[in-house]
Amino acid sequence: MSHDLLIKNGVIVDGSGMPGFRGDVAIKNGKIAELGKLSSAATRTVDADGQVIAPGFVDNHTHFDAQVTWDPLCSFSPQHGATTVVFGNCSLGLAPIRPGTAKRVAEFLSYVEAIPMNVLDTVDVEWESIAQYMNRLEGRLGVNVGNFIGHTPVRYYVMGDEAQKRTATDDEIKQMQDVVRDGMKAGALGFSVSRNKGHYDPQGVHIPALWADEKEIFAIADVLRELGTGIIQCGGGRAPELNGGLMARLSEATGRTVIYNNLGQTMRDPDAWKTHMTRLEETSKAGIRAFPLCSPNRTTQHFTMKNCQIFRGTPTWHPILLSSDEDKLRAYSDPAVRAKLHEEVVEHKGTKIPAAGYSLKWWDYMWVEETKLEKNKGLKGKTIGQLAKDQGKGIIDAFLDLVVEEKLETEFILAEINVDNEAMKQILTHPNAIIGLSDGGAHVQFHGGYGYCTRLLSEWVREKQVMTLEHAVRRLTFDSASALGLYDRGLLRPGMNADVVIFDPDTVKPLPESIVHDFPANGWRVKEPAAGVASTIVNGEVLLENGEHTGALPGKVARNTYYKANA
Ligand SMILES: [Zn+2]
Repeated sequence: MSHDLLIKNGVIVDGSGMPGFRGDVAIKNGKIAELGKLSSAATRTVDADGQVIAPGFVDNHTHFDAQVTWDPLCSFSPQHGATTVVFGNCSLGLAPIRPGTAKRVAEFLSYVEAIPMNVLDTVDVEWESIAQYMNRLEGRLGVNVGNFIGHTPVRYYVMGDEAQKRTATDDEIKQMQDVVRDGMKAGALGFSVSRNKGHYDPQGVHIPALWADEKEIFAIADVLRELGTGIIQCGGGRAPELNGGLMARLSEATGRTVIYNNLGQTMRDPDAWKTHMTRLEETSKAGIRAFPLCSPNRTTQHFTMKNCQIFRGTPTWHPILLSSDEDKLRAYSDPAVRAKLHEEVVEHKGTKIPAAGYSLKWWDYMWVEETKLEKNKGLKGKTIGQLAKDQGKGIIDAFLDLVVEEKLETEFILAEINVDNEAMKQILTHPNAIIGLSDGGAHVQFHGGYGYCTRLLSEWVREKQVMTLEHAVRRLTFDSASALGLYDRGLLRPGMNADVVIFDPDTVKPLPESIVHDFPANGWRVKEPAAGVASTIVNGEVLLENGEHTGALPGKVARNTYYKANA
């Protein structure tokens, strides 16, 4: 038998977690045909000598809902080895949309996920229903895409502006159930809700999903139980899970998997991850599928003292942060002000630390990223704590001497999230936490998260060795696909979708971010390229070769089990 594609001489890491082995992978009609030492003929052969052949990665948390309409690759996910991306997360999405309301629905996505509105304005919304949106995407895709039905557009579709004023009536809940039922029958992967109280529209009002009470959420989610398909995704699920077990209760009531944001480690609450993990073990023991996502990425904040928001909420610092640059410089030069700041944010006298602000020892997690003056170049890469020690000064004096000398232009980084290696090892290897959370397509002008797969393989596997390569591949493929109900991918096994990534385990990594002007309306965004990813293959066709698009558009809409059984 002749194959369409034969990938030769690689190390096959099949996604199951079993040991890698040398061999070839044959592909026919978009499916894996066979593995091993193969001598059959093929239309095309790819040499993978020295490389790993693995299932394509499943990028399980993205916001490409709009971007996919002009960028069928959903870049830069496939550049890092993803062959399936999933959007419609956190209650957001672009369907259903009643005629004439596209701008309003896009505003929710734009404002919550920081995607410029003038870019979203260029999207030609030619669909109304969820099924029509999915059909619009089909046939114009580089990667495979799956979508959740977002509670926010559903609620707005049924309730209009009332969606941001009150809870729903029984009749409105029934209408939302009907919309979600139709979308699930069309093959959507699930239903996404939000409990993230930080998510507002441009007018400062909570997005529609946040106005729903539990009765509404359970009633709509019950449609998934009724159809016996799909999963439930929740943005901001951690707090309601830890206080009231909402995620576990949703899963128990519907019998469906719930995935939510997120299990992470933060220096601002150093032991919180342990409490969360204990909770996960209880849920798991009870036989309930409620899984948080976790990320191999660190969350970093880049800032200068012109735009710094870190000390907001502290009595002395807050008004200074809001003042003019001249007033800031004056305050930061004043010994009396410095003494007050020291008391409040170093000694923490009488100051309650805002949860989202900074940790008790923030100076150990704040680095000098770039100095303005030549003479200060040597300070680059030092923490504020080191600076103070080296100079024999207090924390505030060391910090503000530099800030004042460089007239507020020194660039700093604060990195307090996912920085404890021992905690990260336990989080990234926890069987009930799903690795992902790239947030691809969101906050496009701030930072990418596209590189979470290549970061896991480089930093956490190659450098820190927190797990084997086989285990890491399984986490990025089989585990993620299984949690999402994507049972036809995530493993290299005859009959499975031929979604494959070929990478060099010795060089694979994310590369530094840069700016690229490739969005509609002359929009710009942050680009995060990858090194060491030789090929990304989707449904048996090579999509990317050494990071370059081959021109192929082999992607398909990934649909749920109900759709497949009834199509
Ligand atoms: Zn999200």
